[in-house]
Amino acid sequence: MTDNFFLDQQVIQFFYEKMNSGVIFINAQGNIQYINRQCEKITNVKLEEALGQKYSDVFAHLPADEWYTLITLETGKEFKNIQHIHNGMYLVTDTSLLKNGNKIIGAVGIIKDVSEIRNMEKKLEKTEREKEKLAIISQMAAGMAHEIKNPLTAVRGFAQLLKHKYCDNDTLAKYAKIIMDEVDQATRVITDFLQLARPKEPELMKQSIHSLIEEIIAIVEPRASYENIVVKYKTQKDLPDCTFDRNQIKQVLLNLCKNATEAMPEGGVLTIKTGYLQGKNEIYIDILDTGCGIPHKCMENLGVPFYTTKANGTGLGLSISYSIIHAHRGRIEVYSKEGVGTRFHVCLPCESS
Ligand code: ADP
Ligand code: MG
Repeated sequence: MTDNFFLDQQVIQFFYEKMNSGVIFINAQGNIQYINRQCEKITNVKLEEALGQKYSDVFAHLPADEWYTLITLETGKEFKNIQHIHNGMYLVTDTSLLKNGNKIIGAVGIIKDVSEIRNMEKKLEKTEREKEKLAIISQMAAGMAHEIKNPLTAVRGFAQLLKHKYCDNDTLAKYAKIIMDEVDQATRVITDFLQLARPKEPELMKQSIHSLIEEIIAIVEPRASYENIVVKYKTQKDLPDCTFDRNQIKQVLLNLCKNATEAMPEGGVLTIKTGYLQGKNEIYIDILDTGCGIPHKCMENLGVPFYTTKANGTGLGLSISYSIIHAHRGRIEVYSKEGVGTRFHVCLPCESS
């Protein structure tokens, strides 16, 4: 083997240039002999500028203890799986001493960009953490609901009693009514908690989505028109029946319509649009609003329990909706533009699997 065997043009073309990792060669004097294209990309150093230059000069911008390839040459210590961050990239570096017989002829560094894998790992870790959080919430909610719901029922009962007993006292009746309303709100929050914590299996039935949407509109419209919101319904003709739990999907659509309405405090248009995706055998229901929209940086928080931007929000509506749709093997996509509006695109498979 000759000293420049590693840098044979054919070896370079057939091997290093095709590698997914960055490769850097230095000779026994610490001068750069070769870097491949991938290495150029990672280090932002061009081969023609670096060729023949001192490694320590080319990488002067890095801390000297990160000159792994040079350290290998100077100390004979080889590195395996050194993890470091450079320009926001997660890199893993290996180095080896190059020898021809007993003679040291240089060193080689192999740098792999593992950012994609790292980001995927981080996402998985995040999902795991969310799952753990949910499990804790579920335990807490179950215990809490039991403890709180009973005294609340008693409070509401006595408030109602007072209201009836002193029905000629307007002030007292008014206060009693406030107590009852507030207790009802608290009960709603607890019920939402419980539903998220212990989701019910959907009771699937083949049925028309159209009749459900008419029911939803009947509920949503009075409040919407009071808030200067026009409700529109666009449906595709001959929409096939779909398999779903009526109460659960009703809850999802009411949640989405409520959010849409709340996003349009100055009024606007709430459109419900349905259609059939033949290729996927799915029904879709779009809830569109012309409201404030969702800032890009907030999109990833949608569906995270307790995430809310509203003073009186519980931040549970979307979490529950996502978990219901997930249990139906469907999906929810969100498209939004700040100041323009938002579209929640709900897809449900027509057949249960
Ligand atoms: P809540 O309505 O109690 O805040 P949700 O889970 O229903 O909880 O919604 C979470 C957050 O998502 C809201 O606080 C809001 O910031 C955002 N959001 C949801 N739907 C819309 C929408 N149609 N337009 C703008 N923002 C929305
Ligand atoms: Mg909501």
